[in-house]
Amino acid sequence: MSRRIADYHVHTRFSCDSDATMEAICRAALAQGMREIAITDHADFEPLDPCHGYFQPELYWEAVGRCRATFEGQLMIRAGVECGESHVYRREVAALLSAHDYDFVLGSLHWVDSRPAFDETFFDGLELGEGLALYFDELARLADQGEYDVLAHPDIIRRAVYRRFGLTELDLSPHETQVRRMLRIVAERGKGLEVNTAYLRKGMGEPGPSVQVLRWFREEGGQVVTLGSDGHRPEHVGAGFDRSLAMVREAGLGGLTVFHRRTPTRVLLAGGG
Ligand SMILES: [Zn+2]
Ligand SMILES: [Zn+2]
Repeated sequence: MSRRIADYHVHTRFSCDSDATMEAICRAALAQGMREIAITDHADFEPLDPCHGYFQPELYWEAVGRCRATFEGQLMIRAGVECGESHVYRREVAALLSAHDYDFVLGSLHWVDSRPAFDETFFDGLELGEGLALYFDELARLADQGEYDVLAHPDIIRRAVYRRFGLTELDLSPHETQVRRMLRIVAERGKGLEVNTAYLRKGMGEPGPSVQVLRWFREEGGQVVTLGSDGHRPEHVGAGFDRSLAMVREAGLGGLTVFHRRTPTRVLLAGGG
């Protein structure tokens, strides 16, 4: 893997759903040939979320400081955070981000009106099309009013779709107008999309969002893209990145973006534009 490729979505034991130490995650990144990684533990303010109230920023920052010292000169460690529903929990997110110099903020939509976007119960009482419309409508609100640098797994609804309907692919053509509207908002704010590879690991098909959506994003003026394994264990770091890089290229997006203190820098891909 190119040394310029970084995993911008990984979890450690500061997330409720991971046992991995930050050191182990950093060593895994080095073993993958990476020079940079963003550690993006969950900060969730939605009371229904399993990670609600779990994140302890002071302990997280202690570990970041320790790892930055341990891996100095080998690995650039970006302090990130994955904030759920930052358009709903604006005050809480603002307080969290003002206390430390985060490099990178992932904006996630895990919950829509108390429905979990990652679980089949999302579709209780809803047809596929109705559920998708509900999800992308709320994602547009997050895109517009939320605090984030990059939208994490913008098509996480695929997990619910897979679990309820067994589909590993999602043709969003019937929702093109609605999805493009959301993508235009992201692009106009100078924000980005993540290509998330966790679907591969979970047997739910290709990394997402699809080339179709990435192409729409480029056509709507979008440029900022990061890759994320959404790994919760060391062996997940960088998994599926060759495929997601190919998808980024296929969509005509010639580069990836890295962040320092929330300022984006574009890194061009070899052979890209
Ligand atoms: Zn997430
Ligand atoms: Zn995550």
